[in-house]
Amino acid sequence: MSGQPDVMTLVSRWMDAGTLPELCTLLHRDLCEHSGVSQLLIVSHSNDVAQMWAVAPVDDELVRAVDRILGTSPNRMDLLTTGRGRVLTAEHPDAAGLGPFAALGFTQSATISTDTPISFAIYCGTTETEKQSYPDCFTESSLWPGIQMVLRNLARLEHLRALSHIDSVSGIHNRSYLNMRLVEEVARARRFHRPLSLAIFDIDHFKSLNDTYGHQTGDAILRQMAEYVRWTIRSIDVFCRLGGDEFAVLMPDADTSDCSHFAERLISVLTAQRFTLDESGQQAQLSISIGAAVYPVHATEHERLIWCADMSLLEAKHRGRGQFLLYERSFGRQATSS
Ligand code: GH3
Ligand code: MG
Repeated sequence: MSGQPDVMTLVSRWMDAGTLPELCTLLHRDLCEHSGVSQLLIVSHSNDVAQMWAVAPVDDELVRAVDRILGTSPNRMDLLTTGRGRVLTAEHPDAAGLGPFAALGFTQSATISTDTPISFAIYCGTTETEKQSYPDCFTESSLWPGIQMVLRNLARLEHLRALSHIDSVSGIHNRSYLNMRLVEEVARARRFHRPLSLAIFDIDHFKSLNDTYGHQTGDAILRQMAEYVRWTIRSIDVFCRLGGDEFAVLMPDADTSDCSHFAERLISVLTAQRFTLDESGQQAQLSISIGAAVYPVHATEHERLIWCADMSLLEAKHRGRGQFLLYERSFGRQATSS
């Protein structure tokens, strides 16, 4: 076919994609133009969360078919209003369940598992008429290895991105992840007129524990602390280590009362815990201090929210540690004047 680029030219173009939606756009354009593919969905799976990407509005039948394969209910298949993507909880797609695509002239589907926990499935739809208009189009066998290669690269990129947001000592998210989520969550809270709480806590006298038992024991305590807190928070909360012995919990949809209840509960849960110090089973009790601030009561911008929570933590330390304080305007004044 004259003017048709070779597969490698297409693949090198797809390699420019840095995200799944970008890849979806590039694939859709090229497959539409050169292979008569009219509909395209890419589904990525990471743990039990599946993300589905469609460039153009896709046929309801295709969406419902993919939904059936993913084992979810059809009425959850409302593509986002942008028409570009959506999130659903789903099981891994079962390639054996692709029957419904026959009616659409289904052309290709495969799941790519990499050494990362991310895998992909790609679904293309082509009608019989469209297929006949492209007698010399690229064949699946010529295109598919290229698509697989690009998806593997994307999976590695996603994996590296995820790793860069994980704290290597505690295994939970780090400060850069919190900063990213804070911007998103403040925007969401503003848009939907919902509250948002940020609690920052710090272990009391952690330095002396480090000095007495060594840095490795200190690290083990930070990991135990992270584990205990994970049991206490909700699944939608963002929990991260800010650095040193300081942690943060960002709580979407939590107002001052929810935030206070959480902080009091965290203090009592952690105070009741015994932290293992060494292999002989020696244990220690720890206390923490917590400072918190709530959007929009104390701050309406993310930097200010962090600052208010920080000031509250500082004040909790000044007042003798082992306690929780919600931001008050006087805290900031004292810090600025000292
Ligand atoms: P305060 O009661 O005021 O919080 O005092 P603190 O002794 O807990 O000390 P502070 O919070 O000011 O400082 C944190 C200490 O945590 C300092 C350092 O000894 C220790 N630390 C910082 N990063 C790490 C780490 O990665 N691993 C370990 N084991 N210790 C760390
Ligand atoms: Mg401390």
